[in-house]
Amino acid sequence: MRRPTELAVAFDYYGLEKLRGVERRMREWAAEGKAAARDAGVKNLFDQTASLFPDEQTELLAERLARASRLLDEIERPPRPPVARARALDADTNVQYLKGVGPTRARALANLGVTTAKDLLYLFPRDYVDRSRVTPLGDVRVGDDVTVEGTVAEIVLERKRRGRTLVTALLSDDTGDILLKWFNAPYVADKVEAGDRVVASGKLKFYQAPELVNPEFDVVGRGADADDFGGIVPVYPLSAGLTQRAVRRAAREALDALADGLAEPLPPAVLARTAFPPLAEALRQVHYPANMEEQRRARRRLSFEYLYLMELGLLLKKRQGRTQRGVRIKGDGSLRSRLLLPFELTGAQKKALAAIDDDLAAPWPMRRLLQGDVGSGKTVVALEAMLAAAEAGFQAVLMAPTEILARQHWRTATALLQPAGIACELLAATTPAADRERILAGLAEGRLHLVVGTHALLEPDVKFKNLGLAVVDEQHRFGVDQRQRLAAKGPSPNVLVMTATPIPRTLALCVYGDLELTIIDEMPAGRPGTTTSILTEDRAAEAFALLGREVAAGRQSFVVYPVIEESESNALKAATAMAAKLSAEVFPDYKVGLVHGRLPAEEREATMAAFRRGDVDILVATTVVEVGLDVPNATVMVVEHADRYGLSQLHQLRGRVGRGEHAAYFVAIAPKEITAEAKARLATLARTLDGFEIAEADLAIRGPGELLGTRQHGLPDFALQALVEARDLLELARELAAATLAEDERLAKAEHAGLRARIRADFGRRLQLAGAI
Ligand code: ADP
Ligand code: MG
Repeated sequence: MRRPTELAVAFDYYGLEKLRGVERRMREWAAEGKAAARDAGVKNLFDQTASLFPDEQTELLAERLARASRLLDEIERPPRPPVARARALDADTNVQYLKGVGPTRARALANLGVTTAKDLLYLFPRDYVDRSRVTPLGDVRVGDDVTVEGTVAEIVLERKRRGRTLVTALLSDDTGDILLKWFNAPYVADKVEAGDRVVASGKLKFYQAPELVNPEFDVVGRGADADDFGGIVPVYPLSAGLTQRAVRRAAREALDALADGLAEPLPPAVLARTAFPPLAEALRQVHYPANMEEQRRARRRLSFEYLYLMELGLLLKKRQGRTQRGVRIKGDGSLRSRLLLPFELTGAQKKALAAIDDDLAAPWPMRRLLQGDVGSGKTVVALEAMLAAAEAGFQAVLMAPTEILARQHWRTATALLQPAGIACELLAATTPAADRERILAGLAEGRLHLVVGTHALLEPDVKFKNLGLAVVDEQHRFGVDQRQRLAAKGPSPNVLVMTATPIPRTLALCVYGDLELTIIDEMPAGRPGTTTSILTEDRAAEAFALLGREVAAGRQSFVVYPVIEESESNALKAATAMAAKLSAEVFPDYKVGLVHGRLPAEEREATMAAFRRGDVDILVATTVVEVGLDVPNATVMVVEHADRYGLSQLHQLRGRVGRGEHAAYFVAIAPKEITAEAKARLATLARTLDGFEIAEADLAIRGPGELLGTRQHGLPDFALQALVEARDLLELARELAAATLAEDERLAKAEHAGLRARIRADFGRRLQLAGAI
């Protein structure tokens, strides 16, 4: 069970898709552990661990693995004193020992990512109800958020078709009455009976009578206490098996027992400068605010705290990197001058290259992230950097995540290098044995300076004489350990990472924390551009007419179907049916190819290669086409059910067309009735071609969670919240972090003890800070 949790750290949370099926295995192993354990507490800890990995869970695997690791720590701790409850509550106390929690609820809480008492403090309410102001039932107005109190005159449970239920209660006071309705919550009928006094909160709607739908509620005087009624009351996120009351009670106990004892991470100077409340006060105010203004301020303080700690962690990381000795590379221009680019580098490319040249010449190893939209010309910049290494007598390698991409890069490179008489080889799994031997010998003896390849480069028998620069393309598809394995092939080579996933700077800093960032934010001139249109489903024929015209003119096209988890087979069916229909009925004269995730890799790559060569005119695909495919002759992409994609994903898809000299078209097809959010996404997509503008818009539309294409980036929800809600504080956080370090560069002063502990705990592993503080 330890192994996956360690891998999560080793991958630095990027390559987690490789841990396929890990949820099921963790559950199985936990069951074995439980069966073998004798201690009831330990059995329960295994249960909690299993609860972290439900089947349908799609979010934050990394976070769950981190929590599993803490539960494993606890399982391995020497036996607890027999009466665990007698022990005073501390931050690491497992939640099962809190009042009213117990083993069953502890499992439900684990599902929310809460395993310790301290986690409860950071389980922030998702909402609040103001119970200090009860509106008489005669005064409620439709559309208002109200809290009402009255007597239940009648309560009915109806069972509907397909297991659906509806509980309806008639609530009345002296002034009037309203209906309370709960859909699919039959247990409400067990908790509330006629004659009970009930307090309920929600938004007042009107259907046939005034009603509250799925209101928050409590029965007065039955087990409820002041926490459920006094003033503004927190509403926590829940999972099955939890009630508001139980979570409130436990959070309250944790607050009372722990808040005052937590070390304040913000140094006095920072508290003074920001005028934020101290930690204990902020935590109390987030859970039980006196008013909403106080709540907002407290939440901002906690967001700021996260950003400040993160910035400190990053600064420490950077300093740590600069103490290492790397190879210094100063090219003499002898090779670069032979490279005849058929174009002038854009301003952004020149700036990026200058930053890279500076890094290469510095005494510490370069660690730089080159971020730029698809087609912005990153590969050319990387190639120039590789030439500088070769000029200085070093070797340089470029690694791409798939053979298609590696080949593409290699082709780009050789097209430019061959005329200049510079050798560059390709190493992939399919490289014939004889060639492989020749390449390996060339690398080991130092005769070969430039090589492009796939994971095949990581094989132990691939040895370099003097590797000076390692370039990794599409970083998010590799784990950090792979990046490091590649870098380990030289004494301490410079590392350049490239990504086309345009994420906002704030988030990039957080996710790629150990890298310095260069952004190419300018497209080469002279691209005719891509026209984006959004069509409702009834106008799909127009899209295919356009596709037909372009194919007839010798261009190529994509038709894309989304795979959404619950109906993967539907998407496959749709894609397969469409491919059959297009080739048999609509475009019998053209060659139609089909690729999807269920095809064997070779078949998929063969079809994509045929498309690249122009042997396939129309490629029908599920989203496997997303990554880096460069086919300049492709001018049309039709995306079905475009409402189901995230904005950044749509933008990535759009980047597959418009890479050549011809005008391109991106057509998104969506049903008439889609959510407001989906509408906003499509409108943004149609409005701009700028990846960074899109990324910012995406951040605003739905928060950064899914921005990276995968949610498995290892950032806790809380951090994401901080990045969205308090982005304006990031600059201040950075400034104060720098000031703190300027004054105490190893955070050794007593007043920084709490700060140091928190950075270690929260960022030590993530940023691999061991030794930096
Ligand atoms: P990226 O790797 O960022 O997706 P590439 O480096 O593959 O982009 O460049 C995309 C295409 O644009 C390539 O065909 C490349 O030759 C071309 N290109 C790169 N830089 C320029 C430039 N400054 N002017 C014109 N074309 C360029
Ligand atoms: Mg590229």
